[in-house]
Amino acid sequence: MTATNWQYAPAPESRDIVDLRSEYGLFIDGEFVEAQGGATFKTVNPATEEVLAAVSEAGAEDVDRAVAAARRAQTDVWGPMPGAERAKYLYRLARVIQERARELAVVETLDNGKPIKESRDVDVPTAAAHFFSYAGWADKLSHAGYGADPRPLGVAGQIIPWNFPLLMAAWKLAPALATGNTCVLKPAETTPLSALLLAEILQQIDLPPGVVNIVTGAGATGQALVDHAGVDKVAFTGSTSVGKQIQRALAGRPTRLTLELGGKAANIVFDDAPLDQAVEGIVNGIFFNQGHVCCAGSRLLVQESVLEPVMGHLKRRLGTLRVGDPLDKNTDLGAINSAEQLARITELTDSGVDQGAQRWQPECQLPDRGYWFAPTVFTGVSQSHRIAREEIFGPVLSVLTFRTPDEAVTKANNTPYGLSAGVWTDKGSRILWMAERLRAGVVWANTFNRFDPTSPFGGYKESGFGREGGRHGLGPYLAV
Ligand code: NAP
Ligand code: MG
Repeated sequence: MTATNWQYAPAPESRDIVDLRSEYGLFIDGEFVEAQGGATFKTVNPATEEVLAAVSEAGAEDVDRAVAAARRAQTDVWGPMPGAERAKYLYRLARVIQERARELAVVETLDNGKPIKESRDVDVPTAAAHFFSYAGWADKLSHAGYGADPRPLGVAGQIIPWNFPLLMAAWKLAPALATGNTCVLKPAETTPLSALLLAEILQQIDLPPGVVNIVTGAGATGQALVDHAGVDKVAFTGSTSVGKQIQRALAGRPTRLTLELGGKAANIVFDDAPLDQAVEGIVNGIFFNQGHVCCAGSRLLVQESVLEPVMGHLKRRLGTLRVGDPLDKNTDLGAINSAEQLARITELTDSGVDQGAQRWQPECQLPDRGYWFAPTVFTGVSQSHRIAREEIFGPVLSVLTFRTPDEAVTKANNTPYGLSAGVWTDKGSRILWMAERLRAGVVWANTFNRFDPTSPFGGYKESGFGREGGRHGLGPYLAV
């Protein structure tokens, strides 16, 4: 750890701005309603284990009500509405997200455990940007390359994970609504609150009832949505195993499907890379959002001749990371989202030690309560190790080396996944050479984890299919 003769003073964001209710219903047909059976579940703050609210758990009847409301709204209101009118709602939604950004950021950090500086500077502004961007498409669909008058599919069932709750909701809702579809959204069980705050915002902007419905619950609620015959399109972001189950469930049905699944991205550093920048990119690539990122740069591939300086620099930098209270504006690494996820990370990192890799962690004090995992780097990793093959979805980096560009490509592509990759080099020609050969939906050059609403995002192989973002993101919601 770098010695300093000074300390950070606490800089907590106030949570007074947020008016959390103790109970939340489902959001169906423009109103908050109880689940028919009255079932609820609790959502906790993973940094403190404090219960934040009791949330209704939707069963099959509730999902049925939500789909029926979405169908009515699609047929009677949202489908026939001119694109320019739909755009007004989306612009209004984007503006209110900006106006209520602090509130949304605090709720996201409380429910998810991510640092406030990330929810404030990434999640919320990028969510607003998605609505702004797709609002602009709503009246231009006949110029989007999908024919003269592309039609919506109807009702979209959308299932999202817990790592970027509001942002994933925006990725799903914005293109669906811009194209004239209506939605039934199922947030993750551990992070329902920002979607429910979004529901309040939908009331505030007078979105017609039934255009967006939110059914909270666990995996069974998602399954009921997938199984509902009234859903015309399923959009799923989550694990590869659940994605496969959904694909099996939809086989033989006309329901359209897009899957955004897991990843095991290679972040590749060549010997001519600007090392200071590359190290920042490595840190951002795997420690951003505690590594709960599908496109995280979890496999670092370093050219052998620069392994020593890269590792020295990286370890020094990791010594300065601040792990702790997610509401503190100085915090770099927040809490792990759930006890289950912490157990998964612990099991996989233990396997790394058992299989012979060397584990390194900077000195850091973890809080007593809540779910925490120190930033971790493994060296001496071979391609067959589980930590090099399986998605850990936590703050754990596996370091491998290569000698030639060909070897870098072979190692980078040696994975069942294909979501993202990063290349660090001074040579433009090498970036293009690598990008042509890497089997990944996104290849970042001299940067990592950049998200822009105009840029398509999605995977190959076990990372799924379909693209979200940009013009490409309209296609999966149109009958073309
Ligand atoms: P998960 O278990 O697959 O859950 C994702 C969503 O599906 C949650 O809302 C979950 O509900 C629901 N679900 C669970 N079982 C279901 C079933 N049988 N039928 C329908 N829905 C079901 O994934 P996770 O562990 O929460 O999320 C992490 C994974 O998501 C990682 O693998 C990550 O790579 C991936 N991810 C991918 C992207 C991308 O864009 N490619 C982005 C973010 C995350 P509950 O949470 O309530 O159980
Ligand atoms: Mg929670």
